Formats: sequence, structure tokens, C-alpha cells
Amino acid sequence: MLDMFSLKEKVAIVTGSARGIGQAYAIALAEAGASLVLVDILEDNLKDTAAKIKEATGTEVKLYGIDVTDSEKIQTMVDEVETTFGKIDILVNNAGINAPKPFREVTEEDWKKIIGVNLNSQFLMSKAVVEKMIPRNYGKIINMASVGGFMALSDTAPYNASKGGVLQLTKTMAADLSEYNLNINAICPGFIDTGLLKSSKARDERLEKVLNNTPLNRLGSPKDLIGACVFLASDASGYMTGTQIVVDGGMSAVAM
Ligand code: NAP
Repeated sequence: MLDMFSLKEKVAIVTGSARGIGQAYAIALAEAGASLVLVDILEDNLKDTAAKIKEATGTEVKLYGIDVTDSEKIQTMVDEVETTFGKIDILVNNAGINAPKPFREVTEEDWKKIIGVNLNSQFLMSKAVVEKMIPRNYGKIINMASVGGFMALSDTAPYNASKGGVLQLTKTMAADLSEYNLNINAICPGFIDTGLLKSSKARDERLEKVLNNTPLNRLGSPKDLIGACVFLASDASGYMTGTQIVVDGGMSAVAM
């Protein structure tokens, strides 16, 4: 039965994999057997993830220090990956940013930047990768959303809007690409203890409130998400598309 979760001989790209959740995903996918391509804005920062994968699995990975909002660099990277590995089976659209501010302080620049990294990048990466998946009639795309995609967390209008967009992009891609046997799903984490959360005012001002309203009464860790990622990347989730897995300690199930 565990063979259904195996990623042996699969090729996976994970964006934003230099740290945090993306790093945990990349290590987990490699441990499940996949060959990994790591993408992040700074190639140097990816070396830590590459070293951890080497230590855990003995395998080498390919690194790309590119900005996931740059469509030309994305296309070059995706073409190179296909040439090197012969295929792309799994894409995890994980790179993301946040800059919490009350709505009245959000600038047009803030809005464009957050929507660009969190939503536009998932469209651009997916556009390039699906053209490699369609001829093989096989592919798994996992889009990182958030509970903010369907709940209004305060002071994060562009972030919540971007993640709501990710959920709709996921559903629409699933509908449009089902004839090619592509599975497109999303993961919606609650509050996960990473650099992104540390940069958030929520950590200082609302953490206690959030924890009091989280039935499991703790922050999540990146490791709490890896089961959902490996599941959605594997054949065990073959009959799932256009949906999301919420991993939030029960936070979205209760009223704040
Ligand atoms: P993180 O620790 O800040 O990691 C995000 C990674 O994405 C960083 O390595 C960052 O690079 C990279 N990145 C940022 N902009 C990029 C760009 N333009 N091109 C390429 N790479 C870029 O964040 P995280 O908490 O692991 O978040 C990962 C995903 O989970 C995000 O989509 C986030 O929205 C989502 N999420 C997180 C939480 C949470 O509580 N942490 C909750 C819900 C959803 P640098 O290191 O150079 O900045």
C-alpha cells in the first residue's frame, strides 16, 4: 500500500525552497524518492537545502537562483530541467511573501509585489510546466494557498487576495487541464513557524489570540505540512483535483 506514496523516478520542482516550508517539502519529496530541482530568488541560500537533501538521501539536486515572477527565466529553467531529466512530474508553487499592514497603509507597490510573487508566479510557473506535462498525460501541481485564501485575517489584504486567487486558479486549472490527466490541488496552512511568520505583526500582536483559537493550541511547523505535500504529489491522490487540504490545527473550524 505504501507504494502509492512513492515518488521513485519522479522529477519535482519546488519554488521558494531555500528555507521554511519549501525546504521541508523539498527534503520530504526527495526522501519519498523524487529527483529535486530547487528554485529560489538567491541561489546561495539554496545550498543549505541541497546539503540537507544530500545528507538525507545521498542524492544531488539542481539549483536555480531565479525570481519566480520573471517569465523568461522561468521558461529557460523549465526547458533546461526537461532537457536534463527528460520530464517534469511534480511542480510545487510554494514561493511567497507577506508584508502585513492595515488596509489604509497598503500602497499600490505593496499590492503589486505581493500579488506578483504569490499569485502571478504560480500562473507563470504553471503555464511553462504544464506544456511539459501534457504530452506525457501526467502531472501533479501543488499550489501553496493559506487559510487567508478563504478567511479574512486582518492587516493582510493583498496576501489574502493573492491566496484567494490561488484557490480559484487551482480550481480553474483543474477544470481546464483534467483532459490531460493533470492533478492540480492546493494546501492551505494556518500559522506555521517560519521566517515569513516572524516578519509578521501577527507574531507579536496576535499570536496569543491565534493560539487561543487554534484547537490544537500550538503553531504549526513545516514538518506538519509534508504529509499533505507528498500525498498530493503521489499517486495516492490520483482521484483528487481542484481542491485543497487545510492544515491549520483546527483554526478555521472555530470562530475567532
Ligand atoms: P519563507 O520562510 O519566507 O520562505 C519563502 C521562500 O520563498 C524564501 O526562501 C524566499 O526567498 C522565497 N521567495 C520569495 N520571493 C521569491 C521570488 N520572487 N522568487 C523566488 N523565490 C522567492 O516562507 P514560508 O512560511 O516557508 O512560506 C512558504 C509558502 O507557504 C508561501 O507561499 C506562504 O504564503 C505559504 N504560507 C505560509 C504560512 C506561514 O504561516 N508560514 C501560512 C500559510 C501559507 P528569500 O529567502 O530570499 O526571501
